[in-house]
Amino acid sequence: MSNVVSYEAGRWSALGDHVFQAGSRKGSGKVFLSERLQSTGAEVSLNRLEAGQGYPFLHRHETHEEIYIVVSGTGDFLVDGQQIPLREGSTLRVAPNGARSIRASMGEPLCFLCIQAVDGTLKQRTVADGRLVEGPVEWK
Ligand code: ZN
Repeated sequence: MSNVVSYEAGRWSALGDHVFQAGSRKGSGKVFLSERLQSTGAEVSLNRLEAGQGYPFLHRHETHEEIYIVVSGTGDFLVDGQQIPLREGSTLRVAPNGARSIRASMGEPLCFLCIQAVDGTLKQRTVADGRLVEGPVEWK
């Protein structure tokens, strides 16, 4: 059995072409990866909000914390009434209970990653879980 699953999501600029269905919600500009990658410890989505677009609702989670990583663009994050400006390189972690939403600025699209993982389950930080493998790296 292979140790890797890969999926080509395409360019961030074309993410709006992706349509998703999550429960009763349907939309575009979001690609969930856990099924495509058969991941077992995290849900990851690639997201693109067009200029001026935002989620018209707040949501929270049962058990998942979320990590947001802005890849490009500018916008705002809202969590429990606190507004946080977003730009390329902004990263934030939201606890499951935080009531949250996100929007792109009026001037440009906002592209970001969202990583969900079960709150409180991280066993080791940084490279502590890694183990070096003997032998050379042989590229073809
Ligand atoms: Zn969420």
